[in-house]
Amino acid sequence: METVIVAIDGPSGTGKSSTSKAVAAKLGLSYLDTGAQYRAITWWMISNGVDVDDADAVANAAAKPVIVSGTDPARPTITVDGADAGGPIRTEEVTSKVSAVSAVPEVRALITELQRTIAKNAEGGIVVEGRDIGTTVLPDADLKIFLTASPEARAARRSGELKGVDVAATQQALIKRDAADSSRKTSPLAKADDAVEVDTTDLTLDQVIECVVTLVEEKRTAAK
Ligand code: C5P
Repeated sequence: METVIVAIDGPSGTGKSSTSKAVAAKLGLSYLDTGAQYRAITWWMISNGVDVDDADAVANAAAKPVIVSGTDPARPTITVDGADAGGPIRTEEVTSKVSAVSAVPEVRALITELQRTIAKNAEGGIVVEGRDIGTTVLPDADLKIFLTASPEARAARRSGELKGVDVAATQQALIKRDAADSSRKTSPLAKADDAVEVDTTDLTLDQVIECVVTLVEEKRTAAK
């Protein structure tokens, strides 16, 4: 197997980003955070006065922002119209509005196209993390992983990342966002039939990374 494409999907707080970055770095692969792309387009909509609950307005504006993702796992970057969006896409406002924007089919079509182009051009291969990578974006990925964890564990991890925020409120917000992402009509958050499910509730980050690295190596050996 000359290039290897790994799809890592799952809800928020399951350790997707940390795992994906570390696996890509260990195996010398590129890394793509597709959630950052949906956050970036959401940030652009907010900054340009587009009502995110007006699906027609979002659809009409979807092609306007130019979103560029840097795929080095040691230093992933994202720009919108040339401006660094790494900080602004992580605000609570963007987090609370991203599900509405990402549910718009025109947005998904554009971003999916962008993701496929990045994956196709990644020399050596890539780890792509998101919600619909194994089911829709890269259905022919060499390895598909679906990460899960209990709502309590996910909220605790997210609160730890954001420091000082209320765990119960974080859990409510996570559950709401996952419900929206899982119930939308166009490519919802879902486990592909051929994905390997890994429940990370009782695993350390290192154990999850080790598990995924082993699965990739097994695939590579089997393909030789
Ligand atoms: O992964 P992250 O929490 O940053 O993703 C932000 C949002 O982007 C998700 O809640 C979801 O609405 C959207 N998303 C998506 N499809 C993906 C990745 C993220 O719809 N492949």
